[in-house]
Amino acid sequence: MADPAPFRSLRHRRLAILVAALAAVTALACWGAYRWAEAEARAALTLNGDQRLGLYASSIRNAVGRYDYLPFLVARDHEVLDLLDAPSETRRDAVNRRLETANAAAGSAALYVVDRSGLALAASNWADPAQSFVGQTYDFRPYFRQAVESGSGRYFGIGVTTGLPGYFLSHAVQRGEALIGVAVVKIDLEPLQRDWTAGGERVLVTDENGIVFLSSHADWKYHALRPLADAVKARLAQTRQYDRSDPAPLGLRDGPPAENGARQVSLPDPLAHGARHAYLMQELPLPEFGWTIRFLSDLEPVKAQAAGAAVLTAMGILLLAAALALGWQRRQTLRLQHEARVTLERRVEERTAELLTANRVLREAQEELVQAGKLAALGQMSAALAHEINQPLAAIRTFVASTRLLAERGETTMVRDNLAMIGDLAERMAVLSGHLKDFARKGPARVEAVPVARAMDRALALLAPRLREEEVQVEQSIPPDARVRGDAVRLEQVFVNLLRNAADAMAECDERRLTLSAVRTVEGWEIRIRDTGTGIAEAHQFQLFDPFFTTKEVGQGLGLGLSLSYGIVRDFGGTLRAENNPDGGACFVIQLPEAQ
Ligand code: ADP
Repeated sequence: MADPAPFRSLRHRRLAILVAALAAVTALACWGAYRWAEAEARAALTLNGDQRLGLYASSIRNAVGRYDYLPFLVARDHEVLDLLDAPSETRRDAVNRRLETANAAAGSAALYVVDRSGLALAASNWADPAQSFVGQTYDFRPYFRQAVESGSGRYFGIGVTTGLPGYFLSHAVQRGEALIGVAVVKIDLEPLQRDWTAGGERVLVTDENGIVFLSSHADWKYHALRPLADAVKARLAQTRQYDRSDPAPLGLRDGPPAENGARQVSLPDPLAHGARHAYLMQELPLPEFGWTIRFLSDLEPVKAQAAGAAVLTAMGILLLAAALALGWQRRQTLRLQHEARVTLERRVEERTAELLTANRVLREAQEELVQAGKLAALGQMSAALAHEINQPLAAIRTFVASTRLLAERGETTMVRDNLAMIGDLAERMAVLSGHLKDFARKGPARVEAVPVARAMDRALALLAPRLREEEVQVEQSIPPDARVRGDAVRLEQVFVNLLRNAADAMAECDERRLTLSAVRTVEGWEIRIRDTGTGIAEAHQFQLFDPFFTTKEVGQGLGLGLSLSYGIVRDFGGTLRAENNPDGGACFVIQLPEAQ
C-alpha cells in the first residue's frame, strides 16, 4: 500500500535529520577520539624522549669525564716538565713514548703536549707521519688559549691535522708560577653517535652557537639549527672549529610549542630524500659543556594512531547505528507482517462470507433450475402419457360403443372378442402406470444377496413367448456362484428392460442372438447383455440414460427403461453403461458389488 505523498516527504525529512544527526555525532566523536589518542601518544612520546635525553646526557658526561684527569696528570709529569723546560730530541722521544703508552691505556684519541707558543713538542701519535701532531702549531685553538688564560680548557672541534672531530680537554703545565706549556687530550665522541644511529633514533647535540656537531644522522652534522650572526661566523673562521666558516642551515622550522617544553618542528628527513617531516623536539642543556642535546620523535605514528582511533570510533558508532537500524527495521517488518496477516485474515473471512452467499445463491438458482427441469420433464412426460393413455382410451371408447351395438344385436361372439380387446387395452394402461410407479419409487426396498443366474432366468421366462416367436438365440454363461448385492425383483426388472431393448434392436436384423455372461472383477461382478442388433448411434451415446429419451415410434416406448435401470443399479452401488460390439450390436454392462 503506497503512502500518501505528504507522509512520504515527512518520512524522508525525518530520515534526513536522523542521518545528519548521526553524521554530526560521528564527526564529533571522531574528532574527540583523534584528539584524545593524539594527546595520549604524544604524552608517551614525551616521556620516552625525556628518558632518552637523560640517558644520552649521562653517556656524554661519562665519555668526557673518563678523561678529565688525563691533561692534569700529563701536566704533572716530570719528563713533560723537563721537555718543556729544555726541549731535546732524547727528551721528546721519551715523552712521545710515554704519551703513546698512556693514550693507548686510557683509550683516548690523542694525547699531546704544546709549548708556551702553541707548538706541539710531543704527541701520542708521533710515530704516524701523516697524523702526527708533533711540530704543529695550535695557538689559535680555543682550548690552548683557555688553558693559558685560566689553567684549563675544553673545546669541540675538527682536528686541523687529522680532519677528525674530537673533544679537546687541556690543562696548563706550570713550573712554579710560570706557565711553560699545555697538556691536551683529544676524545673521540664518534662511538656515541654510532650507538644512536644503531638505535634508529634521531639525536643531535648542538654547541653554544647552535651548530650540530654530534648527530645520529651524519647529514645533519655541521649544520646550524638557525642562521648564524656574522661575529659567530668570523670566530668560526678564526678557530677553524669545524673546518668551515659558514655551516649551512639545517632547515629546521619551528612549529607550535608542545607540553613539557617540547616543540613541534619540521625538518627535511635525511632518510626520505629531504622531504619535510614533522617531529616533536625535546631539549636537555648540558651547561658544563655549553651544549644542548636534542631528541626528535617522529610524529607520523602519533597521527596514524590518532587516525586509527578516529576510524575505530567511527566504525563503532556506525556499527551501533546499523545495529539499531536493523533492530528497528526488524520491529517494523514484524509489525508489517502482523498487519498483513490481520488484513489477510479479514479478507479470507470476507471471501468466505462472499463464497457462502454465492453458494446459497447458486443453490437457490440450482433448485430453481431443478424445479424448472422437473416441470419440463413433467411437461414431456405429460405429453407422452397423454398420448399413451389417449390412444387406448379412444380405442376403448370405440370398442365400448361398438360392443353396445353388438350386444343390442345379440352377437355374443363379437361382444366377447371386443371385451377381450378392451381388456388388452386396459392391461396396456396398467403396465404403463406400473412403469410410472417404478419411476416414482425411491431407493431399494431391501438389499440382499441375489443370484444373478436366477434373476436372469426369471427375466428370460417373462420374455420367453416373444423370444421364441422372434427366434432369438440365447447363449447364457453365468456362473452359479455369481451373487450380487441388491433386490431380486428389481434386478429382474433391469434385466427385463435390457432384454426387451435388445429384442427391439434385433427385430429387423437377420441374426438375432443374445449373449449373457457374468465375470468376477475386483469391484464385484460384471454382467454383460450383448445383442446383434442395430447398435447405438454415436449421437445418442450420451442421451441413452436420460428419462424420456427414445428413438422408438410413439406408442412403442416411453424412454424410461434405461433411466429406470440406471437408477436401480446405482441404488445397489453399481454402474450401468452401454457400448457397441466391434462386430456390431450393442452391449450393456452392469457392474455390481459382490454379496458377502
Ligand atoms: P425405450 O425402450 O422406451 O425407447 P429406453 O430407455 O429403454 O426407452 O431406451 C432408450 C433408447 O435407447 C431406445 O429408444 C433405443 O434407441 C436405445 N437402445 C436401448 N437399448 C438398445 C439396444 N440394445 N440396441 C440399440 N439401441 C438401444
